[in-house]
Amino acid sequence: MKRSNLKFCPRCGAQNHATDAFCIRCGYNFSRRRKTNLGSIILVLILVIVGWIVLRTFLNKPIIPPELMTWIKSLFNTKTSG
Ligand SMILES: [Zn+2]
Repeated sequence: MKRSNLKFCPRCGAQNHATDAFCIRCGYNFSRRRKTNLGSIILVLILVIVGWIVLRTFLNKPIIPPELMTWIKSLFNTKTSG
C-alpha cells in the first residue's frame, strides 16, 4: 500500500514499482528516455565538427573562416571601446 514506491508508465499509464526497469503491462523501458537524446545530440555535434574540419582541410582553407574571425574580433572591440 506504499504509494511513494509507485510510478506510472508514460506510454500506457499502468502502475509500476519505482524499482521496475520495464512496464508490467506494455514493457516500456523506463531507463532509456534520457540517454538516447543526449547521446544523439553529442554524436551529431561531433559529426558536424569533424565533417567541418575535414571539409575545410580538404578545400585548403582555414578551419575558422576569416569573416567569422573578424566578426569575433569586432565583438571584443566594441566591448573595450564602449
Ligand atoms: Zn506501460
